[in-house]
Amino acid sequence: MTVRVVGEEETRRLLPMADCVHAMGEVLAELARGRLHNPLRSVVRPPDASTLLGLMPAHRDGDEPVYALKAVVIAPENPKRGLDAHQGLVVVFDGTTGQVRGLVNASAITAVRTAAVSGVATRALARRGSRTLAILGAGVQAHAHLEVMRAVLPFERVVAWSRTPGRAADLDGAEEAESAEDALRDADVVVTATTAREPIVRREWLKPGAHVNAVGSSIPTTRELDTATMAAAALFVDRRESTVNESGDYLFAAREGAIGPEHIRAELGEVLAGDAEGRRDDDELTVFKSLGLAVEDLAAAELVLRRAEAEDAGTVVEL
Ligand code: NDP
Repeated sequence: MTVRVVGEEETRRLLPMADCVHAMGEVLAELARGRLHNPLRSVVRPPDASTLLGLMPAHRDGDEPVYALKAVVIAPENPKRGLDAHQGLVVVFDGTTGQVRGLVNASAITAVRTAAVSGVATRALARRGSRTLAILGAGVQAHAHLEVMRAVLPFERVVAWSRTPGRAADLDGAEEAESAEDALRDADVVVTATTAREPIVRREWLKPGAHVNAVGSSIPTTRELDTATMAAAALFVDRRESTVNESGDYLFAAREGAIGPEHIRAELGEVLAGDAEGRRDDDELTVFKSLGLAVEDLAAAELVLRRAEAEDAGTVVEL
């Protein structure tokens, strides 16, 4: 069996943000229509390790069936080593024969597809006339989100804050704020992309009609948004099942009795497919809680592989 291997640089080149935004919109709408299978991810947490292994499988049926599995180790100390905290690969299998079609670098896929999904959510849910963007965090996701937010809306101003003073200035063209509160004051659209464990967003800091993409917390034990924000918001999610099982932003607020599953207005794909309403008026606070889905990795990796095959990019190896 021959397998195409696509490294980080090639993956980024073959997955321009605008194309990934388009692919994410399509795959989330298809998920809402029931055309893909996206089980909950498995997380391997050795008792004393500071790292974890995430396994994210997905399947799409149809004329060209495909399985994909993202296997990614999250090593939170990696940025200090100059490495992305997310390390691993996406394996793409032919859904009929099971043969492995390709191995794609997971750092690049994760960075681009996560931001692209927030771009889709922002385009669908942000108030018309949004002009100021706030980004909390200054890592891999913050940079990818700066790129996508500018691609989907004509922001006039970007304000950024990160825990370590000076780091937010690395975000090209952003004004650095002294605190999260300062960054949020005028923001029409907010991106939270940190590894914070406790809330960094409070309800009273948000402007009426703001749209928040809550990206950073992907596990039940950490959160970025306080309970009041979750309770006040029209809540949109990538997947209901994932949210009620995996999202600290949701679970902390739920455990405090502020919200339950009925508080989730819709999955983003349902809005895109026209099966659910989005924002109701200009004053509504909207939150898109992003956890990241295996179908997003499947669609992004498949797009990369299709392009790599067309131009014979990457390396073909015998397996
Ligand atoms: P990075 O390590 O590159 O960046 C982390 C950022 O969080 C840094 O700016 C860091 O600040 C900041 N930070 C760390 N601790 C705190 C704290 N206690 N309070 C406030 N800020 C803090 O991570 P990534 O950009 O790769 O990922 C960010 C988050 O997004 C992670 O939690 C990750 O799991 C999640 N993620 C979510 C995905 C999804 O699909 N929803 C997909 C991929 C990642 P400093 O400037 O001090 O270093």
